[in-house]
Amino acid sequence: MHRTRTDEGWILRRQEYGEADLWLDVYAQTLGRVRVLARGARKARSRKGGHLQLFQQVRMTLAQGRAWWILTQAQSQRWFPELRQHLDRYAAAGYLAELVLRLVPEGERLPGLYPLLSQALEAVARHPQGHWVPRYFEWKILALAGYRPQWDACVRCAQPMRLGRPKFFDPTAGGVLCPACRTPRSLPLPDRAWAALRHWDRATLDAVLRHPPEEDLFPQLEALGRAYVQTWLETPPRAWKVQREV
Ligand SMILES: [Zn+2]
Repeated sequence: MHRTRTDEGWILRRQEYGEADLWLDVYAQTLGRVRVLARGARKARSRKGGHLQLFQQVRMTLAQGRAWWILTQAQSQRWFPELRQHLDRYAAAGYLAELVLRLVPEGERLPGLYPLLSQALEAVARHPQGHWVPRYFEWKILALAGYRPQWDACVRCAQPMRLGRPKFFDPTAGGVLCPACRTPRSLPLPDRAWAALRHWDRATLDAVLRHPPEEDLFPQLEALGRAYVQTWLETPPRAWKVQREV
């Protein structure tokens, strides 16, 4: 007897396999990150094929195989045509997907990630401030993975941080440092960037997009986020290169 499950999830990677099959990496609501084989999905008359596009949310019926899940039925829930129409948004969605695939091992689930990913993909596709989504998502997924940085007090000496005093961000120390504790690796952390990151640490994506930081802060926040992502991934995300090209 095969065990079967139904679940919904976002297709984050799609690889053609053999004559007509597809491998899908899906982040699903209850199963978390799963690898799914969709047999015959690329045949012209397949009923499954049309529902299996990248960054699409699908309702799936899965049968458990020896080492992976086999897709037996799929029904489209949501997808965002805006992602196909705007290369920059498509690249941003690809970055969110890559962060999930690199930070969540197969078969695992991070509590809180599914709703965050759903909101983030929709906002990247449709929200007028959607370019801020990857910046917020970087910190949030790392926090969910157990790497929540500390912003309120120096990571080393616990001195509370205040506006108007110099402060630094050390990605390997996992948070903010006072001038006395700064290391050669630490990056200057101007007050406005510090205030934004401290706010993001507690705020929802909706709240962040309602009141995004001033636009001139974008490069600084991008550099800080990348420094932190880089610390936890062995190699830089492929998406950084893609985004540069876009
Ligand atoms: Zn200190």
